[in-house]
Amino acid sequence: RKFVYDFSEGNKDLKDLLGGKGANLAEMTNLGLPVPPGFTITTEACKAYLDSGEAPAALRDQVSEHLAGLENRMGKKLGQADDPLLVSVRSGAKFSMPGMMDTVLNIGLSDESVQGLAAQSGDERFAWDSYRRLIQMFGDTVLGIDGERFAETLDETKSARGATTDVELTADDLKELVGKFKAIVSEETGRDFPQDPREQMDLAVRAVFDSWNGSRARLYRRQERIPHDLGTAVNICSMVFGNLGPDSGTGVAFTRDPASGQQGVYGDYLQNAQGEDVVAGIRNTVPLADLEQLDKASYDQLMQIMETLENHYRDLCDIEFTIERGKLWMLQTRVGKRTAAAAFRIATQLVDQGLIDEAEALQRVNGTQLAQLMFPRFDSNGGVKDAEQIGWGIAASPGAAVGKAVFDSYTAIKWSRSGEKVILIRRETNPDDLDGMLAAEGILTSRGGKTSHAAVVARGMGKTCVCGAEELEVDTKRRCLKTPGGKVVEEGDVVSIDGSTGKVYAGEVPVVPSPVVEYFEGRMHAGADDADELVKAVHRIMAYADRVRRLRVRANADNAEDAARARRFGAQGIGLCRTEHMFLGERRELVERLILADTEDERERALGALLPLQQGDFIELFESMDGLPVTVRLLDPPLHEFLPDITELSVRVALAESRKDANENDLRLLQAVHRLHEQNPMLGLRGVRLGLVIPGLFTMQIRAIAEAAAARKAGGGDPRAEIMIPLVGTVQELELVREEAEQVIAEVEREHNVELGLTLGTMIELPRAALTAGQIAECADFFSFGTNDLTQTVWAFSRDDVEASFFTAYLEKGIFGVSPFETIDKDGVGSLVRSAAEAGRATRPDLKLGVCGEHGGDPESVHFFHEVGLDYVSCSPFRIPVARLEAGRAAA
Ligand code: ADP
Ligand code: MG
Ligand code: MG
Repeated sequence: RKFVYDFSEGNKDLKDLLGGKGANLAEMTNLGLPVPPGFTITTEACKAYLDSGEAPAALRDQVSEHLAGLENRMGKKLGQADDPLLVSVRSGAKFSMPGMMDTVLNIGLSDESVQGLAAQSGDERFAWDSYRRLIQMFGDTVLGIDGERFAETLDETKSARGATTDVELTADDLKELVGKFKAIVSEETGRDFPQDPREQMDLAVRAVFDSWNGSRARLYRRQERIPHDLGTAVNICSMVFGNLGPDSGTGVAFTRDPASGQQGVYGDYLQNAQGEDVVAGIRNTVPLADLEQLDKASYDQLMQIMETLENHYRDLCDIEFTIERGKLWMLQTRVGKRTAAAAFRIATQLVDQGLIDEAEALQRVNGTQLAQLMFPRFDSNGGVKDAEQIGWGIAASPGAAVGKAVFDSYTAIKWSRSGEKVILIRRETNPDDLDGMLAAEGILTSRGGKTSHAAVVARGMGKTCVCGAEELEVDTKRRCLKTPGGKVVEEGDVVSIDGSTGKVYAGEVPVVPSPVVEYFEGRMHAGADDADELVKAVHRIMAYADRVRRLRVRANADNAEDAARARRFGAQGIGLCRTEHMFLGERRELVERLILADTEDERERALGALLPLQQGDFIELFESMDGLPVTVRLLDPPLHEFLPDITELSVRVALAESRKDANENDLRLLQAVHRLHEQNPMLGLRGVRLGLVIPGLFTMQIRAIAEAAAARKAGGGDPRAEIMIPLVGTVQELELVREEAEQVIAEVEREHNVELGLTLGTMIELPRAALTAGQIAECADFFSFGTNDLTQTVWAFSRDDVEASFFTAYLEKGIFGVSPFETIDKDGVGSLVRSAAEAGRATRPDLKLGVCGEHGGDPESVHFFHEVGLDYVSCSPFRIPVARLEAGRAAA
């Protein structure tokens, strides 16, 4: 098998095999861009190594062959004493995992070849600087030595020389430092720093393979839902040097602003530095635009390359480059991460530029991003004006975050677990801060640009982030933040950060709804001249989605107010109206009377009192959804939910008895509570079982629906009610309810002399129902998959219990990538949905199919429901735009 590809042999579509970095290095090479030559070891080699603990036998020879080719081309050998070829060994998985895996630069330097490099470059300082970097990086990532040991030694040398930055150290200082670094290696590993260049390279390759399973990488993958079995590729790339003096340097760039989508020159540049320095925030970078002054030729070339890349990838690209003595080299590119707002704006900009079509634009955004845009933000007119601004940094990841200041990840996690909202404040973040960043509402750093670790990771997480707020002094030891004006924010003080403007405020700033929500609510119009650019973009993308989608989108709504909002958000009906809330509050007493009724007469009276109340609710609901279907689910929860708490009632009755004034009603109530008490109410007397056991209950509800529909018709309305029976396990249950229902409906129709067109269907939420869907369909006009209960019953999970108890452990162990309550478990629950849909349609081709669990608003699940051929999804009103968009994306 071929385990090694020269950069010229790959292309951008080989990400599975070559990783994103390798595939794009190959693509750039083939575009004729200046990429230092090199080759890529495939992810398959990595997978083979991780499976067996041994690199595949063929790998070594193939690497030797490609290395020899590279050496020929460069006219020097790896680590050659008088003129060494140096290489970087770089990780690169299919999906970008910034900073999660290892890269080692300057491989090939040794005590001998460092002299050769000095002689060839004519720069002794540069050679020793490169060597110390190699030992430092190799020691840390390959040999597993605590990086702090090197960092401290470097700091000691700097302060001994009175130097504030590493560039001030001389060749002799660096030579001395190399001696110290080598001593650290010997001390920590019991062996000398390896002098054989090939051994260095092989060890580094192995370390990159191993870094795939590092704890940081695993956590990141779980968070980002990246599969654990992809493995990483390894890129061996000949070195170019940004640390060869002031006419050299290294930088990062975006072809457009990843925060707003605006076109322009965005990036950071650092003179006389090697790659990692830019993102590590060791020295302060300059804006990319300043490169024009520093090195016009390279700047112009870079701008041209950026345009080439945008047109080629037809998308925003991010770029890593290095300038070696005035010569520009491209070290990496990829389609860049961006904020949610930028994603929408860029997609429509690219359509306008003619680079992509509408279907493609839909693939450039997603529902998760849309959901992010619906978060509230700071009130730019009211609260923000009065708020005390204490700093200003780079708007790295949008949103409005308010919380208590914490200065380390541990505290962030601890406080957030106890329910506090926190803002994590660091000088800069590193991969060890990942858990703390996850726990925080937002992240604030004083160092680093838009491409710093904090910025990149926060954008990926959808967390608000302000970075590089340089005038703020972060004192992690004393746990406080100092402003130039002398104000001090202590741990626990509330701060507010605005990831859209970069502003930092002391205290709590009030938040307002997002313009995107204002737009969906109809309070802001995309057509207006001064309309927000983002709103215009969202409006266009939603129009594309609505045009192509096949799935209809309905709302889960129980009252007229929610129904009206759902309609504004684009709902095409109600997929689930729960009736249980209609029995609570003041009406609870009526339910109690129903349960306690001993005689037919008592029961009739209780039902008679409930009927008009129910009917009133339905009239309102049908009115707000006039002309659109409304699925009403008959009473589902177990009856004890409507009765007093068993312990409280027992105590009350016992006390009363001891006073000899026990009241008759309480005694009967207590008996009923005992009678209805269940060990497992979720699996007990509820849903259709209740309807069949309590005479008249479902009849009353059905009558209320029919009467409400008749009243709407009489008033000129267009009610489209659908009656849904919950928790059906067998067709016999449904037959009984249907018989009863048909009688009642016929009665109401006769009384009012109308045709109501009511349909009757069932939820499919028990495995037995799914397994016998073919039979059930004989008696149902529609199925609505109740995927919440179906997930509970298929897995035998009680959602309320398991999410809090063992789900985190399961997620950590990778048993789930994501909770099956959040995204449909395709293989298990999903396969039941698929087969039940097929069986149902086989019986009754016109069977209407929908889903009304929370999965109806989950992006990945929506795609699944589209694929299995459902007619609609139903979700909470706020998720409707997300479901519309994802339904469009699924169909485009
Ligand atoms: P990451 O995946 O963390 O971005 P990279 O493999 O891109 O890691 O390496 C980090 C940085 O190291 C790059 O941005 C680049 O600046 C520098 N680098 C990597 N390879 C080379 C090389 N061959 N020559 C010069 N610099 C390099
Ligand atoms: Mg990189
Ligand atoms: Mg249910």
